[in-house]
Order: sequence, then C-alpha cells, then structure tokens
Amino acid sequence: MPFMLDEQPTLNVAIVGGGIAGAVLAIGLINRGINVKLYERARDFSEVGAGLGFTPNAEWAMKVIDPLIHVAFKKVAVQNSTDWFTWIDSYTANEATDGSNDELIYNMYLGERGFEGCHRAQFLDELAKLIPRQCVEFRKNLRTIEERGEDQKMVVVGCDGIRSRVRQLVLGEDHPAAYPGYSHKYAFRGLIPMEKAVEVLGEKRTASRFMHLGQGAHALTFPVAGGTLLNVVAFVNDPEEWPHSEKLTSTGTKQEAVNAFKHFAPTTRAIIDLLPEKLDRWAIFDTFDNPAPTYVKGRMVLMGDAAHASSPHHGAGAGMCIEDAAALVGLLQMVQSEMQHSKHTMSDLLRLALATYDQVRLDRSHWLVETSRYVGELYEWQHGSDPVKISREIDWRARKIWAYNIEEMSRLTKENFTRRLWKLDEALLY
Ligand SMILES: Cc1cc2nc3c(=O)[nH]c(=O)nc-3n(C[C@H](O)[C@H](O)[C@H](O)COP(=O)(O)OP(=O)(O)OC[C@H]3O[C@@H](n4cnc5c(N)ncnc54)[C@H](O)[C@@H]3O)c2cc1C
Repeated sequence: MPFMLDEQPTLNVAIVGGGIAGAVLAIGLINRGINVKLYERARDFSEVGAGLGFTPNAEWAMKVIDPLIHVAFKKVAVQNSTDWFTWIDSYTANEATDGSNDELIYNMYLGERGFEGCHRAQFLDELAKLIPRQCVEFRKNLRTIEERGEDQKMVVVGCDGIRSRVRQLVLGEDHPAAYPGYSHKYAFRGLIPMEKAVEVLGEKRTASRFMHLGQGAHALTFPVAGGTLLNVVAFVNDPEEWPHSEKLTSTGTKQEAVNAFKHFAPTTRAIIDLLPEKLDRWAIFDTFDNPAPTYVKGRMVLMGDAAHASSPHHGAGAGMCIEDAAALVGLLQMVQSEMQHSKHTMSDLLRLALATYDQVRLDRSHWLVETSRYVGELYEWQHGSDPVKISREIDWRARKIWAYNIEEMSRLTKENFTRRLWKLDEALLY
C-alpha cells in the first residue's frame, strides 16, 4: 500500500548489541532523526577491555557518521611515540637492539597520528555519552525475532558480535556460515612495565609498533598507557581444535609461550621472558571458512563482527564495523527522507536499501577476513620466508585497507540505491 503523506513516518531501528558497531550506528541514526532502541545483554556498555588501533579509513568513516564520534576517539587515543610501524625477521636474523636494521622486512610510515590505539572500554564510555539513556536497554539478551508484519517501519540490525544470534536467524541455524570457525591460532596477551622492557629491548624497540615474524608464531609489541607499558600480543599457530566450545579464552602459562618462541632470535625470546607467569590465551575465531552469502533477510541486517568476523592481523576489524555503519546510516537516512513523499511502500524502500547495503559491503568485508587470515599465516612463514615477497604482500594489502575512500563509498551507495528506486518507479509505470 502506498505510504500516507500526512503521517510524517519515522523509521524504527532495533539494534542488537552495544559494542563499537552498535554504538556508532546508534549515534549516526539518532542524529538523523531516526528512532533507535539498542538492546545489550550486558549491564553496561564497557564490560570488555582490550586495546584497539584504528586505521585511517576507520577515522574517516567516524567523521562521515558523526564528527563527534571522531572527537570521542581522539579524546581517548594514545599517540604513537614514532611515525613508523616496523616488521622484522625475528627468527633467523641477528637481531640488534642498538638500532641497526639488519632484520628489517618492512617499514610503514604511519604519518601524523596514523593508526592510534585506544582502550575499547574507554572509547565505548565516550560513545555512550552521545547516546540518550532512553534509547538503550541493558540486560536484554536476544533469543529470537518474530516477523509479525504490523510495523513495516521496523528494521533489526544485528551488531551482536562474532557469535551473533542474529546471524543464525538471518542465515538459518543449520547454515554453516551461521557460526564462526577456529583460525588455528591463539594469542597470549600481556603488559610489561616500560622500564623493564627498555632495559632488555632498548629505546628503539619499545618506542613504536613492531611485528616480530618467524616460524610457527609471531608477536606484536607497542607502547600503551601513555608509554608506561609495553603491550605484547604473542600469536601461536595451533594445529589442534579449540577445546572449549563455549569460551574463546582460557588460561595459559608463560612456559607455553616460551616453548612456542624457543627458536626465535634473542630479542623476541627476551620479550616473552618478561611476560607474567599466568597468561590469558585468546582463541582467534573468524568467518573465513564459511563467509555469509548475504547480510540481509527481510528487515533483518547484520553489521560488524556479526556479519564478518576477522582475525586481528590487520588491526582493522573494528574499523570495518565503522565503515558498515557509515553505509547503513546513509541508506536508512535516504529511506527516511524518501518515506515522506514516496509512492512506494515502506517494505519496498527498506528492501532496496538493505539490498544496496549487501552489495556495497559484502566483497570488501569478506576480503578483509581473507586477507587477515593470509597475513597472519605470512607472518608465521606459512607462505615462505622471502622478505621481499612478505613486504610486497603487507604493503598492498595494508594500503587497500587504509586508503579506502569513504566519501566515494557513500556516493556509490547513494547512486546504487537511487538506481534501484528508478527501476521500481519504472515497474510501477508499466
Ligand atoms: C585480539 C584482538 C585484537 C584486535 N585488535 C583490533 C584492532 O587493533 N583494530 C581493530 O579495528 N579491530 C581489532 N580487533 C577486532 C575488533 O575487536 C572487532 O572487530 C570489534 O570489536 C567488533 O565489534 P562489534 O561491535 O561488531 O562486536 P562486539 O564488540 O563483540 O560487540 C557485540 C556486543 O553485542 C552484545 N551481544 C552479543 N549477543 C547478544 C544478544 N544475543 N543480545 C544482546 N546483546 C548481545 C555483546 O555483549 C557485545 O556488547 C581485534 C580483535 C581481537 C580478538
């Protein structure tokens, strides 16, 4: 039925999950006059704490959704101490902490304030300040969604993370892509007091981001907490299955990490030696084996890790959530404005908008999952140890993520939706 002109209709969006994806989407929609209710199963926004780095594409997408999101990020971001991100051979090279670069594989210029990190919980706290309290319901765990048909203006967006319930409802519980898979890597994460780290590693190795490459394992180090701590993420290849069906974390020991890095060069072994005796072990799951063939079913749509969970080897998963939000916010804004005068039904407008979203986001987000798996393997020499090949692979892949033109994505998204609308107009005429 055509829409009534005098109703001044407003779109209602139910967001499931209040992580980075859900929070940025809520802010963007609220600012565009769209009704939002965000349902989060935890009792607050910021229960999970971890470090997150944002690449330049993510910062650009924040600005497109709402410049205040970018302000919130800058408020909590920790500036890099140097402008470089360095990948080194930590396995065969004679590592030197004196600044000589015989082990250098690849050096990336981060530019002024590029790839800054923040604490996830702190960023979410800042985002929460931009969402009116009445738009959020905590302690709400989504189990199912019923299509009753009475509210044609309602959209449900699944932002419920890697083990998304909404993904199961969109794809069907029996669909293999409804569940993430083990990437056969896990990570030990730890923080080292900076004075101790400098004593062993020297100034140069502790002042900026280093990726330590080698056979069967790799480690990322970077300064956090205003340079008072060195953050260590030590990844280990694991041919076994992850033994815990419900949990993605377990406890590990330093000895296990020492064993995994025992063939590495002295500096990397020294980093591992500085870790605490008891360590958290994080299983790296992703959607690589079974990517979702679509992110949409009816008026349900997936965003962020719920749609495409990536391993963390590019440090770009959360950035991809923000790109998704920029596309979806723009489309729902167009639906909202079209609703005021369109001859089409609300269901038709939403169908076109969500099909556009699917088309615009599917390839790039699937590619991120693929490339992230690949570089994780590359860092552990599963594709050979040739430094020239490794540096070439890192270079083009990182550029493709970092240099993505968000304005262009928004323009193409709008164009795609408008074309679909014209086709529908034509269908009505004939
Ligand atoms: C070790 C590691 C390091 C990483 N480093 C980076 C990095 O440096 N840069 C980067 O960009 N990305 C990084 N990532 C990826 C990034 O953390 C994720 O891509 C991002 O946090 C996903 O956000 P999200 O909002 O989609 O999901 P989540 O953050 O998982 O949020 C989902 C929310 O939904 C809620 N929820 C779940 N189920 C339900 C339900 N049924 N009902 C209601 N609520 C529900 C949860 O409580 C949670 O609050 C890293 C990931 C890992 C594992």
